[in-house]
Amino acid sequence: MEKFAQDVQNLLGIKLTPRQRAAFATYEQELLAWNTRFNLTAIRDPEGIRTKHFLDSLTCILAWRNSTPPQSLIDIGTGAGFPGLPLKILLPHLEVTLVDSVGKKLAFCRHIVEVLKLEKVTLIQGRAEELGQDPAHRERYDWAVARAVANMPVLVEYLLPLVRVGGAMLAQKGASGPAETQGAERAIRILGGQLQQILPVYLPGVAEERYLIVIRKQSATPPSYPRRVGLPAKKPIQ
Ligand code: SAH
Repeated sequence: MEKFAQDVQNLLGIKLTPRQRAAFATYEQELLAWNTRFNLTAIRDPEGIRTKHFLDSLTCILAWRNSTPPQSLIDIGTGAGFPGLPLKILLPHLEVTLVDSVGKKLAFCRHIVEVLKLEKVTLIQGRAEELGQDPAHRERYDWAVARAVANMPVLVEYLLPLVRVGGAMLAQKGASGPAETQGAERAIRILGGQLQQILPVYLPGVAEERYLIVIRKQSATPPSYPRRVGLPAKKPIQ
């Protein structure tokens, strides 16, 4: 954990407390243990988990450096908790909602929440398309985030309906991020968004480029979006 803590400090300027280090160590052990029974992640070595899951998730905070930090955040397609759970460990006051359509992934997230005694975390098994039309969730969050869930035109239809006007969505993307964002220009406009920034991120020892794509919510999303389950992926807004 020493190197990880140093990496966090170098990249994000934050010194992890002993309690936070212990939380990440526990999260890592549990992820390794559960992975032998369920296929939660393809990354199976401690160093990979620390850099490509934990540190990568934490880089989201670079996106809200120059604006008001969010109070509430929804993570769509969280899988084994990325990026939502590492962000929750780093920022204890954040209200985090983790969403995935697959029950066993949510079961793992619930386990981590219990073991680490994290408060103000809500776990929902469901689809982004359903939550986006549910008044309890629609336009309720300061930030909606996602990593490795869908192409940008699809992702904006998952995320933007959940963000309150004045909030933002954040997509964690690889090398294709800028081109995907260009291809989503029309979808962003239709859904009430405006591209704010594309921020490159460099992880120590990782050659692949990473990008944080930040899209502000300028105006309310039209009621017809998100469309019914499956349609955004099948017929992305062109
Ligand atoms: N964000 C995690 C997991 C990525 S895998 C990470 O970066 O490691 C993509 C996850 O998104 C899967 O667990 C899948 O079940 C979930 N998913 C895909 N489409 C979804 C949708 N429309 N609604 C909710 N979850 C979805």
